[in-house]
Order: sequence, then C-alpha cells, then structure tokens
Amino acid sequence: MSAVPIEPDVLPGAAQLDGLSRVALPVGVNAVETVNMHVLADGDTVTLVDCGVWRPDLPDGGLAAVEAGLEAAGYALRDVARIIVTHAHIDHYGLAGRLMEVTGAELTMHALTDLDCEKYRHPDTARARRRDTYADHGVSETESTDLADHLTRWLPYLHSVVEASRRFRGGEELVIGGDRWDVVHTPGHSLGHVCLWSPARRVLLSGDHLLPSITPPVSFERGFDADPLRSYLDSLRLIADLGPRLVYPGHGRPFGDVAGRIEAILRNKLRRLDSVRRAIHDQPSSVTELADRLIAKAVLAHQRQLAISETLAHVAYLRWCGVVERRTRPDGVYEWYATGNGPLEVGELLTRS
Ligand SMILES: [Zn+2]
Ligand SMILES: [Zn+2]
Repeated sequence: MSAVPIEPDVLPGAAQLDGLSRVALPVGVNAVETVNMHVLADGDTVTLVDCGVWRPDLPDGGLAAVEAGLEAAGYALRDVARIIVTHAHIDHYGLAGRLMEVTGAELTMHALTDLDCEKYRHPDTARARRRDTYADHGVSETESTDLADHLTRWLPYLHSVVEASRRFRGGEELVIGGDRWDVVHTPGHSLGHVCLWSPARRVLLSGDHLLPSITPPVSFERGFDADPLRSYLDSLRLIADLGPRLVYPGHGRPFGDVAGRIEAILRNKLRRLDSVRRAIHDQPSSVTELADRLIAKAVLAHQRQLAISETLAHVAYLRWCGVVERRTRPDGVYEWYATGNGPLEVGELLTRS
C-alpha cells in the first residue's frame, strides 16, 4: 500500500474537526499535484466529498490511496455509502465510477454536471467545438488542434463516465453524522459546482470555488455558461455572505481568514478585467492577441489553453456589461472593440464588501 496520505492539518484557531478528515490524493496531471478527498463520518458509513483520479499507471488504479485515507479515518472501502462530487472535473470525479463498482455507493452531483458527462461521452464533439472556438478567436490551426487536446490529456484519468445517482439543484439540506450540511450551488469555476456548508460549524467544503494559494480559474467554454465570470463573482458573494470561519478546499490545506481570501480573489479578477478592458480600448484585438499581450508567455499547452479560455471569460463579462462588442475581420477572426465607458459591476461588488 502506498504512503498514508493523511497529513495533520494545523487549523487556524481550531482543533481537528470531529468526523471530517482530509485525504490528499496524488494526481500528477497538468501541474495538478494532489486533490483533496474529504471523509465525512456518518455512523457506520462514510460520505466522501470528491474522490480523485483513476490511475491507469498503478495496478490498483488509485484505490490504495483512497483505502489508506479511509483506514486512517477509521473506515474501510466497504463503508463508503455516498460520494458527493463538488464538480465533475476529472481531478475530483475520475475515480467515482471505480469506487461505485467496488463499494456500491451512490453518486450525488449537481444536475448541470450532466454537461460534463456528455462532454466525456463525446470527446470528439467537445474537441471539435473547442477547435472552432479557438479558430474563431485567432488561434492558428496547428496550435488550435494542440490546445483542443487538453481533454485528451485528462481522459485517461477518468475510469468511466458515470451519471449522478441523485442530482442536486442547490438548497438541499443533508444530514451527515448528525450534522446539517447545506448544498450551495456555486457556478463559475464549473457550471455544476457545489460547495457544502455547515451552518453550525461555519465550515465550508469549497471544492475549487475557493482555493488557498491560487485564484480559481474561470474559463469560457461554448455550450456551457455564456458569462461564467459573472456567475463566479456572484457565487463568491454568496459564500462571503455566509461568513465561513474555515474552508476545506479541493486542493491544499484548510484555511481561515476567508473574507480576506475572497477579497484577494475578487481584486485579482477585477485587475485582470480592468487590463483586458483597457487593452481593448487602446486597440481592437482578438482574444489570442489579448492573451499574448496580457498574460505571461505561457509555454506549455495547458497553460496556453487556460490563458485563452480565461481571457475569453473576461471578454464575455465585459461584453455582457455592455462595454465591448465584437466584429468579424476579413479573415473570419473575431475582433473586440470598446463600446462605452460605463462602470463595471465588479467595482460595485467590491465596494459592498
Ligand atoms: Zn476544477
Ligand atoms: Zn480541481
């Protein structure tokens, strides 16, 4: 069995929380080192929140690390009765199918994760759609094929495409181990993203909605959210209003000073919005030109893919604010130009905090 993946967490101003353990599972794909699986004790059974990736390179497929984490929490694989996935990105969901086979557990995710599942079922369609998006926004043909392969790099880590046994819509109240956990729909990083909130403990399991050391990426993808950055900022406000004391994120260690962290993320997004807006104001540009100008030269394909998808999300936000619009160049590439100087809603959002 591989090394016991539970690390002792030094919690800000709090003792270890009863009935909640964090297991950092190794991932090792596209610079994602580990992902957290949270184990919530529920009497004789457990609920897992997120479950890591299928590991085709390991004889056990990644199950041993899950098993070791469960054992450290005092449980075994057969005790897993429910798997909750915060969002269906493969680092959080890839092993779910295998775990369901082994444990018979039910899988619960937000209803909008259906879109992710459809993407995984039809990767060629998803890749073609991405290639078209990149081409429309000025990525060269050779590079767009490379960038659209983002999905191809992740797919080997998905054991199988399993649909939710039960679908959240947001607002559900779960009782786990005698504690109430509320399901909060937090679209933005992913359309079908949920956080779990314990009002009594003021603890949030945040998935990738809030992360300790990086600003969670918000990227645009055709066929999903038309304005994902607006959704993200609204979801951030929703969580700020809850006033969490402690956050257990999808990656990294638990953290306090949640209001400070949210403020820092907001400022980061606002700064980027501002620079995208200014760049378009200075010179009408394609999304690829903007990404090249504003984002440190991304060397690896997954960094470049993220830079362009994130710039797209920022441009979409500005567009729905009514301050930029697009036109088509003779070569068919979309070019964005400024239409006005109205105030950005995100600024107003910040002054309210
Ligand atoms: Zn994610
Ligand atoms: Zn993640």
